[in-house]
Amino acid sequence: MNQNRTREIKIGTIIIGGSHPVVLQSMTATKTTNIVATAETCQHLTEAGAGIVRIAVDTQQDAISLREIRKRTTANLSVDLQENYRLAEFVAPYVDKIRYNPGHLHHAEPEISWQKKVERIVETARKYDCALRIGVNCGSLNPPDAARDLTFNNTLDNALDSTLDSALNSALKHADFIDSLDFRRFCVSIKSSDPATVILANRRFAVLRSDIPLHLGLTEAGMPPEGVMKSRLALEPLLSEGIGNTLRVSLTVPNERKHEEIEAGKLILHNVKHGNILTVTDWTPDRLNIISCPSCARVENERFVALAQQVRAATRFMKEVPLTVAVMGCRVNGPGETDHADIGLWCGAKSVNLKRGTNLLGTFSYDEIVQKLLKELEQFQ
Ligand code: SF4
Repeated sequence: MNQNRTREIKIGTIIIGGSHPVVLQSMTATKTTNIVATAETCQHLTEAGAGIVRIAVDTQQDAISLREIRKRTTANLSVDLQENYRLAEFVAPYVDKIRYNPGHLHHAEPEISWQKKVERIVETARKYDCALRIGVNCGSLNPPDAARDLTFNNTLDNALDSTLDSALNSALKHADFIDSLDFRRFCVSIKSSDPATVILANRRFAVLRSDIPLHLGLTEAGMPPEGVMKSRLALEPLLSEGIGNTLRVSLTVPNERKHEEIEAGKLILHNVKHGNILTVTDWTPDRLNIISCPSCARVENERFVALAQQVRAATRFMKEVPLTVAVMGCRVNGPGETDHADIGLWCGAKSVNLKRGTNLLGTFSYDEIVQKLLKELEQFQ
């Protein structure tokens, strides 16, 4: 594979970018406070071939747990920060990379500018010898970017372009800002649950900032085998063009099957190496599109993966209907990602929110949600 030459970024014992091979990644989905289970998952994923393992940290207790996890695994660790950017300084001594999501920086302390928050993350990374990832997600964009685009676009077709532009702008804006702080050790990801958006956004970024390593991924790819196929559709064309230095295949699987993300990543690299590239014309998906997040430590209820499987089984009879159903594990990307789906379910601790587009239809228990969903789907048959 002949990747575009970007800057080299050291992450623990590995380097991404330059002429280095594409690195595979995965993420833990056990509670971060469950130190034993999380450390074991990190170790299993590393043995399966993960060059980097990501862990979500949202609280001080998570940060304290990370210190113990660090002692129990040899994995190169990346930490996933969302709202609480101040946690960076508590976790940085124990990890090799920090990922922040520009779209979530506004949640905590809105009176402080995003620039001040990024400055603080960058200074922490510099102090503790960590790399950074600017992790843009189309399901959770900066409100100012999203609002600006909605003003100019009224049709559904334009909505895809506006989301893509907002995501791209957000990535470019943050990359320029971190450069201005004279910090170069960072990569960028622009993810979406739509393969076409992932391809276009990363192609455009690679043209505009060919110096910055890219982390590739399709979010909420869903369950295998469809989730693997959708990820192949997005990632194989990019990698075959020399775009992408590290990747994650996000699959909705139980914790004990997380290694399947690495196996899917290896399949993609093998296919690219042998010119076996999946393109849209080679694949006829069911018209019913089920997107579901891979879950992570933030998942609100352990029944989430089983619920996603139930939704797929219960809706199979509608597979010819052109409809998108989103099933999400928590409030972080749940509300935003379900806004873009025809029908959305996002999980709380004891109940599941059912939405039609942006409208909340109600909140139902885990036992009743599938029946409520089927009732709602009657309108689409
Ligand atoms: S939606 Fe929530 S549970 Fe699912 S992967 Fe994203 S942060 Fe984790």
